[in-house]
Amino acid sequence: MSTITENLQAVADAIDAATAEARRPRDSVRLLAVSKTFGPDAVIEAVQAGQRAFGENYVQEGIDKVAAVAAALPDRALEWHFIGPIQSNKTRPIAEHFDWVHTVEREKIAQRLAEQRPAARAPLNVCLQVNISGEASKSGVAPGEVAALARVVATLPQLRLRGLMAIPEPTEDFAAQRAAFAALRALYDQLNAQGCALDTLSMGMSADLRAAIIEGATIVRVGSAIFGARHYNKG
Ligand SMILES: *Cc1c(COP(=O)(O)O)cnc(C)c1O
Repeated sequence: MSTITENLQAVADAIDAATAEARRPRDSVRLLAVSKTFGPDAVIEAVQAGQRAFGENYVQEGIDKVAAVAAALPDRALEWHFIGPIQSNKTRPIAEHFDWVHTVEREKIAQRLAEQRPAARAPLNVCLQVNISGEASKSGVAPGEVAALARVVATLPQLRLRGLMAIPEPTEDFAAQRAAFAALRALYDQLNAQGCALDTLSMGMSADLRAAIIEGATIVRVGSAIFGARHYNKG
């Protein structure tokens, strides 16, 4: 077995264990394989091991990879998620080539994505990125402003508001990991109590997946535990 195949199995085992610990159904958590910085061959290997959903952070790298993998495996129905910061001049390729976006944090970006989503495609699935750790992070809408943004996004054509996403400040402290994820979960529950009909909590990465699943993650975004350490080579 290849390393990627073995790693996917190990991550699946970790999800099994965490869902069992949380007494949640196994199929309530989906694995998003974060393939940023890795080439199409790594994605193809993961697809051949049964993985279907992939996450990308950089627009050009992502759309090149979508095209390369589609050319190599034209019969596979894959799902591509954009999980990186969104610049307003880069919304069109995201709207045209991805199935999901996890990092919407401003109304203006949501409006552009709605306008630019091709009519022939299914609505773009959207998560709002929340700045759950406060000052430690620059990205995400403040918790107190999520409800207002959600109300706007829910009305936009060609977008389907699915849920919330966060990247908490990294910590090895399990209780602190849980506390951050619990805060996102509480916001999610509040929005649903107000009628938002969200079904997605995108939280948890290689290092904090167990805490995220215990606190209710429905999508975990895992990169290095599947593909190995990243080498950022922008040359
Ligand atoms: C890179 C990245 C991940 C994956 O991180 P790992 O620690 O490699 O699992 C998940 N989510 C986002 C938003 C990322 O940028």
